[in-house]
Amino acid sequence: MGRKFRTQLTITMALIISVTGGLIIVLSDFFTNREFETYVKEQQKVRTGEIADNLISQYDERTGGWNPEFVHGLGMAALYDGYLIRLEDWEGRTVWDAKNHDMTACSQVMMDIIARMEKKRPELKGSFMEKEYDLTQNGTLVGTLSIAYYGPYFFSESDFHFLEALNMVLETVTLLALLCSLAAGSFLARRISRPLIKTAQIADQIAKGNYKIRFDGKSNMQELNELVAAVNNMAASLDEQEGLRRRLTTDVAHELRTPLTAVASHLEAMVEGLWEPTPGRLQGCYEEIGRIAGLVADLEQLAKVEDDNLHLMKTQVDLLQLARTVAGNFEMESAKKNLAVEVFGEETLVTADRDRLNQVFANLLSNAIKYTPENGSIRMEVRNGQGERAVVVVEDNGIGIAKKDLPFIFERFYRTDKSRSRLTGGAGIGLAVVKSIVSAHGGTVMAESKDGKGSRFTVELPK
Ligand code: ADP
Repeated sequence: MGRKFRTQLTITMALIISVTGGLIIVLSDFFTNREFETYVKEQQKVRTGEIADNLISQYDERTGGWNPEFVHGLGMAALYDGYLIRLEDWEGRTVWDAKNHDMTACSQVMMDIIARMEKKRPELKGSFMEKEYDLTQNGTLVGTLSIAYYGPYFFSESDFHFLEALNMVLETVTLLALLCSLAAGSFLARRISRPLIKTAQIADQIAKGNYKIRFDGKSNMQELNELVAAVNNMAASLDEQEGLRRRLTTDVAHELRTPLTAVASHLEAMVEGLWEPTPGRLQGCYEEIGRIAGLVADLEQLAKVEDDNLHLMKTQVDLLQLARTVAGNFEMESAKKNLAVEVFGEETLVTADRDRLNQVFANLLSNAIKYTPENGSIRMEVRNGQGERAVVVVEDNGIGIAKKDLPFIFERFYRTDKSRSRLTGGAGIGLAVVKSIVSAHGGTVMAESKDGKGSRFTVELPK
């Protein structure tokens, strides 16, 4: 058994989020660090330049050169930022030196920076280096400034805090996204799997013979709806087949019972001497047995043509000529009801099984005769249809077929209420046989009707 769909989907989503989240963290860490380093290097250049500019700006030749208090203030401020400065006048005499001034503070600052950088950026292998600036005023050298700081660059405590906070935000966002994806995955999977499980249960029920069951839940996923619709359709068609099968049994039983009871009771009366076995009575029994034999023959005919391996003896057949022959065979019957049977059309050759087509025409024509009242008319038309198809139309102006019955008349044992009540109909096999034969030839048969006005059957056959 495979993994549950829900687990599978959740794991997949979590994996995708983890990989993308991880990539985002690693890449953004790399790029922000690189950008930030460049920015800090730039800032350090600006800062040292500013120190030099500030010093030179307060140098005044008239008042005796450097202002020691200002230099001291500036030097101490720079020291706490990590810059150790030393200022010499133009003769090389020290004006102010951070190291001389407060050696302890200097080494503390240096040690702090070294410790911090070596801990967090050991690969940098940085060290303190000195940069010298010549300080000039109006073109004359007034002193030299040397600034020592940790290079190639250094981060202050708050710089590291900033970078760490940035990473933390990304990590938190990734973690949140991961949690959301797990929740969404499991929610989505549940929405998909619920109808799937339900459909599987329904299919199971169908397999157990419960064809009435349907799934009426709708999801907003097209594929799922299609699956549900397919299962529902399967149930419906099985239900229909089951109904037909049941009806077949009851119909056959019913069809057989009436003539059998009649024959049995007549014979019983004759055996017991209650009835004289007159030729008339024996003839009655014989006719009933004939009806039974007819039904059995119908059933046999159907079984034969519904065989998947129906073997067709194909030859060239002229449909017009065949229609005329069949109409001729039914002359007696049509004459009995004074029906006008008209056959017309053009010579139409098809490659087909003549005997089977004879049966198709005979069934259609016998229906037309059966279901058309006296003095009605029947037309058989044979046409060379468009392209590779030949068309035969059998049309009558009889009782017609109700709209509700039309879709079912080609099914085995289907009879409309009208034909049942008239007692003229057969067992509802004729059209099923027509359809089987026409389909075996690769053709189609279609019925149209206006209830009460007549019916039209159109057969299309490949040539
Ligand atoms: P049956 O042996 O009862 O005629 P069919 O399979 O030949 O069985 O026809 C099925 C049903 O279709 C018939 O019971 C009848 O109600 C209807 N039907 C067939 N052909 C016609 C027709 N030409 N006019 C009216 N109803 C028809």
